[in-house]
Amino acid sequence: MKNPLAILAADGLDARGGVVVEGDRIAEVLGAGRQPAAPCGTVLEATEHVVLPGLINTHHHFYQTLTRAWTPVVSAELFPWLVNLYPVWAQLTPRDLELATTAALAELLLSGCTTAADHHYLFPGGLEDAIDIQVDAARSLGIRAVLTRGSMTLGSDDGGLPPQDVVQDLDTILADSRRLVESHHERGPGAQIQIALAPCSPFSVTQEAMRDSAALAEDLDVRLHTHLAETLDEEQFCLDRFGLRTVDYLESVGWLSPRAWLAHGIHFDDGEIARLGAAGVGIAHCPTSNMRLASGTCRALELEDAGAAVGLGVDGSASNDGSNLILEARQALYLQRLRYGADVPPERALRWATVGSARALGRDDLGEIAVGRQADLALFRLDDLRFSGSHDPLAALLLCGADRADRVMVAGRWRVVGGQIEGLDLPALVADHSAAARGLLSRADV
Ligand SMILES: [Zn+2]
Repeated sequence: MKNPLAILAADGLDARGGVVVEGDRIAEVLGAGRQPAAPCGTVLEATEHVVLPGLINTHHHFYQTLTRAWTPVVSAELFPWLVNLYPVWAQLTPRDLELATTAALAELLLSGCTTAADHHYLFPGGLEDAIDIQVDAARSLGIRAVLTRGSMTLGSDDGGLPPQDVVQDLDTILADSRRLVESHHERGPGAQIQIALAPCSPFSVTQEAMRDSAALAEDLDVRLHTHLAETLDEEQFCLDRFGLRTVDYLESVGWLSPRAWLAHGIHFDDGEIARLGAAGVGIAHCPTSNMRLASGTCRALELEDAGAAVGLGVDGSASNDGSNLILEARQALYLQRLRYGADVPPERALRWATVGSARALGRDDLGEIAVGRQADLALFRLDDLRFSGSHDPLAALLLCGADRADRVMVAGRWRVVGGQIEGLDLPALVADHSAAARGLLSRADV
């Protein structure tokens, strides 16, 4: 990949001459005017491409692509938004989830994403194989996925937020978690599919579920994920039920560890930011969702400066309502500027979307253009009207609103070429997915 128009390489690395990919890895990074050590089999002249490490999404709920922009919750905050949506989501079928997962992953891929985490916590009757379905969908698109076995154990009968019919018993959850890790979790550099354990949130799981999930994750050596400090309602719930603020609660159940990454992480005080940073906890910053639900602003710069691994997430598609990660980096840039001032450079937001997200997911083989890293790359062209007249190519991606990659490579293989996903009939997917979304609402009778 020769002489890119611009390239975001690892800190301090000159990559103006391009990169050499061998197998699934980056074999050489070339400074300006440098040539590869040996002739290359295929040469891509990248003089019209801006090259980024493949973007990495750290938080999503793929199934929610079926309930985008649903009228009753278009203007709701988190708790009423959830209470209205739970009965709809309870009707989810295996085919719905397959289509929703494919739709979300396709949208992510087209936006330059090469690794996507999902948080799936709905297992109604018939959908016991939800995560297995997602594994198959990710494999058929060739994208990397960190699929989390979500869980809800605290229903409304016991003071939780979700209705009783969407919660599961803890033994079932733990046994299925172990099965999924043993069946699907890959380890080491280049892993395509990974499994993590993900009790949903303080208001939908018991303390026992949090503790036992942490112990099981330790035993199986996999990562832990949950929602934390998303809204003040949640903070009040923790104070009322546990007599603890969110981070004290997290620590009390054994989660203040570099094994954990947290979705949102908004309502932390100075002392909590220092503790999360010292523990090396990951944060999935989800700016669009946080603005959409009016949840608040994550203190991303302070969390990162304190030592936390800050990455980006588009969050579920019922609260974004898209799955476009390059646009999410733009949102992060602007939301953080509102909080900290204009001196937040676009490169910092691009690093959250790449190496920051990789760190949050515990991956040191992804997220950077450097020798030995996985060959996961996103290439953007700047020939759309929206870029006309722009000067700094890297800045233009975010400032002019790039929304679609021209080429995307995962593990050395092109998955997107000319803005199209290899081997995917996109119009058919849109037709089937839209029909499934209408069917879901009609079955829910809402
Ligand atoms: Zn979420």
